[in-house]
Amino acid sequence: MAGILVYALHDDEGNFNKNSLGAISEAAKLAGELGTEAAAVVVGDVSDDGAAGLGAYGAKRVFRAKDAPEGLAQPIVDVMAKVISDEGFSYALFGGGLLGFEIGAGLTARLNAGVTMEVTEVKVQDGKLVAERPVLQDSAIVDVGYVGEPGIIIGRLNAFDANAGDGGSAEVVDVEVELSDWSTKARMVTRGEQRGADVNIEDAEILVGGGRGLGEKDNFKLAEDLADAMGGAVAATRAVVDAGWYPYAAQIGQTGKTVAPKLYLAAGISGAIQHKVGMQNSENILAINKDPNAPIFEFSDLGIVGDLHKILPKLTEAVKARKGG
Ligand SMILES: Cc1cc2nc3c(=O)[nH]c(=O)nc-3n(C[C@H](O)[C@H](O)[C@H](O)COP(=O)(O)OP(=O)(O)OC[C@H]3O[C@@H](n4cnc5c(N)ncnc54)[C@H](O)[C@@H]3O)c2cc1C
Repeated sequence: MAGILVYALHDDEGNFNKNSLGAISEAAKLAGELGTEAAAVVVGDVSDDGAAGLGAYGAKRVFRAKDAPEGLAQPIVDVMAKVISDEGFSYALFGGGLLGFEIGAGLTARLNAGVTMEVTEVKVQDGKLVAERPVLQDSAIVDVGYVGEPGIIIGRLNAFDANAGDGGSAEVVDVEVELSDWSTKARMVTRGEQRGADVNIEDAEILVGGGRGLGEKDNFKLAEDLADAMGGAVAATRAVVDAGWYPYAAQIGQTGKTVAPKLYLAAGISGAIQHKVGMQNSENILAINKDPNAPIFEFSDLGIVGDLHKILPKLTEAVKARKGG
């Protein structure tokens, strides 16, 4: 049966990744419009309840390959290729993130499929899926349709919202998959959290947001020092997380997290609309920017025009002195 298959990544405790849940929700919405089914693939150690729980997000069936390892792309390509071929799925949809890109690319090569990456929206046209993808540094959008099946759609990180519905339960189908030789040649040794991923920025009362104006990755230390002094956490713009300066977990905005702290201190952030939508409900917004015409000043309560490299260390010292005194 035609349908949309999603890969659902989980951690060692069996918690599913937010992007994967977003992709299942999006697949369920699209499947509803196409009159078909959304389903998910999970690998490794996932309990019956955990797998069936993906039904809440709209998966009708969850294909579970217990013996395939989680965290590496090649074994998951094996599993998804088998499920797509056996069950005749028309599309595979990924929520973004490095693993999603790797699996999606591998699956594309394996199945001779068409692929679109960095997709921000998917729509139904004439009974088929059409992927929207920003191009030319996000200044234009292109629509991509698919010739033949399956079509592979890899979303941009956080492009799809996770919507837990009425708590419906998915049918869990165990699948046996013989892994390809090459899929067993890499082994995950450890799995750890990246810097900053442990901080829940959505709950922080004080956030220091860092943007491209910080100049380079190491200068995030300036934002971290100030956040530490104030008892807050560090957030970031998409430009800097895409550049690898800070973890995706800290991204604020349209395709990141939405926050409303008591204080949002924006350092070297221009104030693009896609960033604004994620932080505009902050109680107090303080912006530091060397450009007096930066858009961020249009929605800041307090603005400092100047070089953040001079201002941030002084602010940190002042906060520490005040707390110490
Ligand atoms: C579909 C889509 C989704 C997107 N989603 C998001 C999202 O979720 N979140 C997000 O943040 N963006 C998102 N973007 C990207 C967004 O459009 C901007 O490109 C991004 O927010 C810019 O990040 P920035 O402010 O760090 O960098 P820039 O726009 O380059 O701004 C850097 C700022 O730093 C200032 N500056 C430079 N040096 C200094 C200094 N020494 N001292 C003080 N100030 C200095 C500059 O004047 C400038 O204003 C999205 C875009 C698209 C198309």
